[in-house]
Formats: sequence, structure tokens, C-alpha cells
Amino acid sequence: MKSSLSPIKRQRCCTQLLHPYDHSGITASFLKSFSSSLGSTSRHALPQIRCTSSSSSSSSSSSLLKDSTFVPPSNNWPACRKDQSSSRTSLSSPSSSSSIHTNHFSTATNNNDTSSSSSSSPFPHLRPPNIKDVHIFQKIMNYRPGSVITTLGKQEGIEDEDEDILKRYNVDWTHRYQGNSSLLLRPQTTNELSQILSHCHKNYIGIVPQGGNTSLVGGSTPISNTEIILSLEKFNTIHSFDTDNGIVTVDAGVILSTLQSTISERYGYLIPIDIGSKGSCQIGGNVSTNAGGQYYYRFGSLHANVLGVEVVTAKGDVLDLMSCNRKDNTGYDLKHLFIGAEGTLGIITKIALSCPKLPTSRQAALLQCPTFNDVRTTLSTAKEKLGEILSAFEFMDYEVVSLVQQQQQQTVLIEEEDDESDNPFFLLVETQGSNSEHDREKMEQFLECCMEDGFV
Ligand SMILES: Cc1cc2nc3c(=O)[nH]c(=O)nc-3n(C[C@H](O)[C@H](O)[C@H](O)COP(=O)(O)OP(=O)(O)OC[C@H]3O[C@@H](n4cnc5c(N)ncnc54)[C@H](O)[C@@H]3O)c2cc1C
Repeated sequence: MKSSLSPIKRQRCCTQLLHPYDHSGITASFLKSFSSSLGSTSRHALPQIRCTSSSSSSSSSSSLLKDSTFVPPSNNWPACRKDQSSSRTSLSSPSSSSSIHTNHFSTATNNNDTSSSSSSSPFPHLRPPNIKDVHIFQKIMNYRPGSVITTLGKQEGIEDEDEDILKRYNVDWTHRYQGNSSLLLRPQTTNELSQILSHCHKNYIGIVPQGGNTSLVGGSTPISNTEIILSLEKFNTIHSFDTDNGIVTVDAGVILSTLQSTISERYGYLIPIDIGSKGSCQIGGNVSTNAGGQYYYRFGSLHANVLGVEVVTAKGDVLDLMSCNRKDNTGYDLKHLFIGAEGTLGIITKIALSCPKLPTSRQAALLQCPTFNDVRTTLSTAKEKLGEILSAFEFMDYEVVSLVQQQQQQTVLIEEEDDESDNPFFLLVETQGSNSEHDREKMEQFLECCMEDGFV
């Protein structure tokens, strides 16, 4: 059997096979390393999405954003494409040179009143919240302690510690994006949220919804003092689990890792998303960014697994799209508009998610390939030899692994004597199934084939 693996690497490969690897640790380290390696990079160099309207007029798109008026999809529906030129989501018409920043939630209906907004604000039609608004929000949330955090009206006895709390919510996880909002709201019910948005809508006040604040691209932090930070953290109940169908109904603010452990320990099911930020990010944030992660290969995107959502629109209307039917082919499937919308079309408050059974057999192998072509061949071999049990296929290059290792010294994948030019591509292959003997046999056949053919 010819193989490009050194004896040490072969041994490591077998060890990983016996003791499944914690991928999410790698992903977390990867994210940390990645963000620190970008330390001096401006936000304009980061990946973004720009939506471009295919129609000559942007009016339908604008009304959708400002009024949350739902326009049925038509030929005028904006088409999305990846664009590296702007760090913020924007929607523009080819006929217009201006673009509307949309990943911050504009709840206002028109731009008549600009008197009190800051002239340097990127949202000139919005006004900053004032102490009168604060009193209204306090009333909406029954003066519940911690529900309104503000530096407005400090002289009226607002706690000093509010300033420290606000600072934390104004900065993102990477510390690259810093806002200066003076008001944080933490509603607890859909009704409270609806009243808050309705008030903001009528008074030209902007909102930025915030989940776990891990999005890495500044989407969850304010960029001016005209925005209120609206945290979803108090929406933190796991409502029910349907054991016949494997469907969980959960509040948007539940932390992903809490949801994962509850569903696996209590019911023996798996949440079909797992990402490095799982200890902080919220399921509502995951749905709003259509986050992927290591199970993407096996279970598909959240578009495939979210069965229903409850959403509060900019006007404060509550949309109940909480269908729990796996097969529901009646009319438009509006929930998909909110998956990946990053809060631009409404705030997600509740989610129904389809969950697969927890696997009883799980294996992982860490491989190294000499060329990228070998990576591709390994993928097609994995599909052929592992078939239905292949659950994850993650690729990392030498530079990424070195960065992880620098940040997290206990992760030793590259040893001193290793030469980058030998095997610069790392692969993490995982299987999940229900028969360990059968799955193990398949994994061994796959590894043998890869080594015999010399592409690992
Ligand atoms: C487009 C995108 C894709 C990503 N994909 C991945 C991935 O595949 N794998 C990975 O490991 N990490 C990914 N990340 C990084 C990050 O860990 C995830 O985005 C995570 O899902 C964010 O969750 P969060 O609760 O921290 O949301 P936040 O960072 O707080 O918010 C993210 C965005 O969603 C909005 N938002 C948050 N909650 C709600 C809500 N309830 N209703 C409406 N809008 C809301 C915010 O305004 C913001 O625009 C991605 C980030 C982005 C921006």
C-alpha cells in the first residue's frame, strides 16, 4: 500500500478514527485566528452581499424595507449576488446611484421629519431616541428591571452601570465595529416587541436587532446614535419538542449550544447546525444569517430545516408563519424571505426547526493531501465509499491550521519537522450512522482506498 502519510501521520489518522474529533473547537479557533489575522484590515475588505434590483425602479424594494409591505415575488424581485465592494448590505437600483443601507432596521414610514437627526448620520430620515421614548419603552415593558438600558436622561437617576452595559452591546465580537447607541432594549414577549417596533415606526427611530453579536461583519452593532439596540436575549424559552416528528419550537434568543444539549440529552435528537460560535450565537441569529457550519453537507442549509418562523415586521405586525408541517405546499413560502435576511425585513421571535435523530455511531478522520486536486479526488471517493453516512467534509489549508495552532497551543496538527510543501491541505472527514461496525468498515475501506491511490 503506497501512501504519502508519514508513520506518525498515519497513526494520527487512526487515533482520530477511534476518538472523534471536536470540529467545532477547530472552527472556533479558526474564527478567532481568522479575525485576529485580519486585525488591521478595514471593514471594506470583508466579504459582503449586495442586492441589485433587476427592475428600473426601486420603489417596490424600498417600500418592502421601510413599511414591511409584502410584495409577492415577481420579475421585479431583487436578485442577489456576491459583491466585495461594500461592507454593508445595500439594495440599489441600476437606475439610481444611491443605495439604501438596509441591514439596520429602518422602521420609519417617510422622511418628513429630519430636524432632530444628526447631519452626519448615515440615516438622515431617522431621529435618535429621546427621554420621552425611554419612558414609553419602560411602560411597554412594565418597568421590568434590565429591560431598558440607557445613558439618556442620566440626571434623572439612570444607573451609572448602564454606561458599561451599553458599551458591551455597542461593540462587536471582533472589537472592530464600534457603535454609539445610547439605548438598549431587552423585550421579553412578542407583544412587547411589536409595541416597540410600532412606536419606532411612527417616530422615525432606527433599530438594530442583536442576537449573540458574533456575526463578524458588524451587522449586529449600531453605526450611529439614531439606532436603538434591540437584544433578543430574553426570548430564551425552548417551548416544545415533538418526539414523533423531531420538531423543536424555540424562541429566537436561545443560545445554540443550550438548544443542542437540551435536545440531544432530553430527546436524543440533533440540531442540524453546528458552528464555532455556538456558545454565544442565538438560533435566531443563525436563521437570520442562514449560517452553515459543519453539518451543511449532510443536512443542507437552514432553508431546508426551518419549518416555520414567527416574525415582527417594522410596523409592529406579527406574522405567524409557524407551520410545523414538513410538507406544506400551500401558496407562497414567506418564511424563506426571513432566513438569511439579517434582520432587514423583520425580527424573528420564534422558530420551528426539524431535527434528525442523534447518530449512535460517529467517526472522524483527519487527513492531509499533497495537492488541491487530491482534495477533490478525496471528496468524490468519500461520496462513493461512505455514501449516506458521510456527514462532514471540512477543508483547511496549511496557513489556517498554522494560525489555529498559534492561537491555541494544545491543538498540534503541524509538527516542527513538517514541511508545508509535503502535504499542505488538511481534511476532516466525519461519518454519522446507526451501526458502528458497518460504519467503521466503510471508513476503513475509504481510508485504504485513499492511501493506496496516494492522494492522502
Ligand atoms: C451572512 C453570514 C453567514 C455566516 N455563516 C456562518 C457559518 O456558516 N458558519 C459559522 O461558523 N459562522 C457563520 N457566521 C458567523 C456567525 O457566527 C453567525 O452569523 C451566527 O449565526 C450569528 O448569530 P448571532 O446570534 O451572534 O447573531 P448576531 O451576530 O447578533 O446578528 C447577525 C445578524 O442577524 C441579525 N439578527 C440577529 N438576531 C436576529 C433576529 N432574531 N431576527 C432578525 N435579525 C436578527 C442582526 O441584526 C445581524 O444583522 C456568518 C455570519 C454572517 C453575517
